[in-house]
Amino acid sequence: MKVKWFGTNALEFQCEDGTDFMIDMYVSRNREQLNIHSEVEKYVTGIPRWVLMTHAHWDHLADMPQIIAKTNTVLYASATACNIMRALEVPEANLREIHYGDHLELPGGVTVDVIESRHKGQAGEAFGYVEPPSRESLATANNWRCGEVFAFLIHADGRCILNAGSANFVDTGKPVSCDEFFCGISRWEEGFPELIQRNVRFSTLIPTHHDEFRKPLSEFALRGDLPRLKEAIPTLVAKEIRPLEWTQLC
Ligand SMILES: [Zn+2]
Repeated sequence: MKVKWFGTNALEFQCEDGTDFMIDMYVSRNREQLNIHSEVEKYVTGIPRWVLMTHAHWDHLADMPQIIAKTNTVLYASATACNIMRALEVPEANLREIHYGDHLELPGGVTVDVIESRHKGQAGEAFGYVEPPSRESLATANNWRCGEVFAFLIHADGRCILNAGSANFVDTGKPVSCDEFFCGISRWEEGFPELIQRNVRFSTLIPTHHDEFRKPLSEFALRGDLPRLKEAIPTLVAKEIRPLEWTQLC
């Protein structure tokens, strides 16, 4: 299978049989104008069978109404994220609420285990919505509340991929094993290197969200989160993938 990274934790995967799916697909990258139609038109050219959402913050979710309208894809997301989508009149047929511990059997023989995770700076249950907020309130970035936070363990094409969208994890001490760990490392804080070493066994860490995500993709630039992590974990096997290009996973 191959993968394309769009900055933030926005990822597109394509299986060998052509099955296409995405995670946290967001390309507008603007805190004031949360969804920019021309950016979505320019960059989101695939037709995903489904999109997984790690949490409901604007820099993960705010392009989804347009992506759903454009592709008729199905969004697998928390109750909070689905309530935000309902407020924006996304059809119910395109929404699937997911919960910690869910096991999804998806087209193309792809399976997804929905793992309870955490957002950076967050120790427990996140602040969310149990019913749709007002449409007007969602013009403000801060009202895209985090909600429940998921990591996704994905089996596809004989590979096992783990994705966590923010630099935190539940400290179970029972490690999750995977081939590639697509790990959001945005501004990771003290304790995070030990946390991932205790809770994830991976062959390769592929960093995400370590870019200047409030600049448009045409001005793409990385931040220093990965060099810091390599310093903290000298034995770390990490591979950066280039944005907006397909990379074969092997
Ligand atoms: Zn976030």
